[in-house]
Amino acid sequence: MSVVLVTGASSGIGAAIAIAFAEEGWDVMAAGRHEGRLEEVADVSDSIVTWSGDLAESEDCDELIADTIEEFGEIDCLVNNAGVIVRGDVADTSDDDWRYTMTVNLDVPFFLSRAALPHLLRAEGSIVNIASDCGLRGADNAAAYAASKGGLVLLTKSMAKDHAGDGLRVNAICPGDVDTPMLAADAEESGVDLDEYLEEAAEAVPSGRIATPEDVAALAVFLATDAASHINGTAIPVDGAGSA
Ligand code: NAD
Repeated sequence: MSVVLVTGASSGIGAAIAIAFAEEGWDVMAAGRHEGRLEEVADVSDSIVTWSGDLAESEDCDELIADTIEEFGEIDCLVNNAGVIVRGDVADTSDDDWRYTMTVNLDVPFFLSRAALPHLLRAEGSIVNIASDCGLRGADNAAAYAASKGGLVLLTKSMAKDHAGDGLRVNAICPGDVDTPMLAADAEESGVDLDEYLEEAAEAVPSGRIATPEDVAALAVFLATDAASHINGTAIPVDGAGSA
């Protein structure tokens, strides 16, 4: 049985990814901050084990990797999904908001990737980083977020180049808008009615709808399988032609 570690698994895209892997027969370590919500995800399948805690320092990340190895003995795929968005252009972004965004969106994937690397190399496994279309083309009023996701895309490509010869694959998924709690929180923070926000977001997408968490999860699972064995160092949009 293959083992996947998914961060930010208590809600939105992360929960959908954890469930999608379990449905494909993987053992899943679902890491998140909200024990109650994690339990709801774990109720879906006996193959999902939960780990709750805040991820910020390298020690937190080392502990999560060590606990995953203790539980399952191996890691075949790491999905760096946990993320935050803080709105603002550069003038509006405080030191704390910048550092918080960089910590969660870029430091934590780096710390986890480094800690998981020996196990992933042994398994000839893969990493799937959940970046964003903002990391490919920048974003309005989300300078720190776009910079962190752009960094994650290039961490993806750099790791892929460094370790492709050892059988490790590292890919990023770059979703456009996805209907998750992050989007709802963004609407609230912007003072926009959620239905209106979702309607406008859908109108901006050529295919006429925004993504579901399951759209992203399906690609994450595919990227982790042998069917994707020659797909490495990519940053793939899931955005209904939004970035085409
Ligand atoms: P979400 O808010 O439901 O999920 C984010 C998850 O990250 C939450 O479970 C949260 O608890 C976790 N998290 C945040 N900070 C953490 C920390 N310090 N330690 C541990 N966990 C932490 O939103 P989502 O939309 O499902 O986001 C998942 C990923 O998808 C994020 O990386 C986000 O940037 C990315 N993304 C989302 C969208 C979108 O429109 N929703 C678009 C592109 C990319």
